[in-house]
Amino acid sequence: MIRLGWGSASDVGRARQQNEDFLFTEEGLYIVADGMGGHRGGAVASELAVSSLRSHLDDVDPLTTDSLVQAVQLANESVVSAASDDPELSGMGTTLCAIAVVQVPEVGVERLAIVNVGDSRVYLLKDGHLEQVTDDHSLVASLERQGRLTREEAAVHPQRNIITRALGIDARVMVDSWEVVPIPGDRYVLCSDGLFNEVEENRIAATLRKLADPDDAASELVRLANEGGGRDNISVVIVDVLPCQHVPSGIG
Ligand code: MG
Repeated sequence: MIRLGWGSASDVGRARQQNEDFLFTEEGLYIVADGMGGHRGGAVASELAVSSLRSHLDDVDPLTTDSLVQAVQLANESVVSAASDDPELSGMGTTLCAIAVVQVPEVGVERLAIVNVGDSRVYLLKDGHLEQVTDDHSLVASLERQGRLTREEAAVHPQRNIITRALGIDARVMVDSWEVVPIPGDRYVLCSDGLFNEVEENRIAATLRKLADPDDAASELVRLANEGGGRDNISVVIVDVLPCQHVPSGIG
């Protein structure tokens, strides 16, 4: 059995009127969504995507990486149809990244599945070193992949908020997915762009190394993002892979 610890924090930031990010945590499922769209559209899109994803997962047993990807596609359909039913919500969309404990039925083991659409991110802190697991679906990230921008240039580019993939835009969406072996000591971070646009990655890594409690670390990252400008909503979920519980061998 995989044992996980987790913590989270979300904040409207210092410039926006409302928090259009939506995060969700429960044992074995962790989600960050960053909504966009005029008036209430962004907040509706992110919350609807998360609630739709959760309700589709309720019908699935055992949960696998494939069924998680399918549930994200169904969540996309929910956002698309809500946007087409209500003119006020037209054009709304949302990013979504998630981590879930999944089964690998063929071999009867558990893994972590990671899924992503958009430019929210999943990072992994492993042996003190921070790496981005997901690929951003954004204009600057594709320019970076083509070698036309450096990572440093992309991080401050004026068009860095243009995303190339989101839920709620088209009837079908491509969902990136990964399946990873959980190693005790690994620390995963899900976050909206309000974090990494305001806080440099080496500072994020240092905070994750320093604060063992995941709620403390998430709150500190949100505080640093506000200190850095807080120009967007900020959401952080931290998931720690804990050591396996020792099962005493029974006597007699
Ligand atoms: Mg954002």
